[in-house]
Amino acid sequence: MVQTDPNCIFCRIVAGTIPCHKVYEDDHVLAFLDIGPLSRGHTLVIPKGHWATLEQVSDEAGAAIGRVLPRLARAVLNATGAKEWNLLQNNGRAAHQVVDHVHFHIIPKIGDTGLGLDWPAGKLAGENAKALLNAMRQQL
Ligand code: 5GP
Ligand code: ZN
Repeated sequence: MVQTDPNCIFCRIVAGTIPCHKVYEDDHVLAFLDIGPLSRGHTLVIPKGHWATLEQVSDEAGAAIGRVLPRLARAVLNATGAKEWNLLQNNGRAAHQVVDHVHFHIIPKIGDTGLGLDWPAGKLAGENAKALLNAMRQQL
């Protein structure tokens, strides 16, 4: 049995106490239309269990989402006629997360609609990369 939070809006959508426009459902995953779409077909994909951010999700729930994301994306693209799209997944307020239940956005790019992005790229220095890699690999 997965954990749920009775105060969480997405857990209540999973439970069926708040309605949604359901796109897809299996034992682990629910996909539904975003109520405030950035473009036609904007779809949210969530684990049925409640975790606030992606790094907390169980391997099983993460795998279940990964398994269906390409198929859901194909459905969104084929239904809308969009050819380009973004996958967005926000974690934490500063990273633009509003609903504290892990969710992936499938956002078609249709004309001017879809995701807008600022991408202030830095430069990766070799020495910094080495220290960073060591630190990260020790955590895996
Ligand atoms: P975040 O900024 O947390 O990544 O995105 C949350 C998303 O959830 C927003 O795009 C917002 O429109 C959507 N959303 C919030 N509440 C509801 C709801 O009750 N129903 C649906 N379908 N989408 C919601
Ligand atoms: Zn929840």
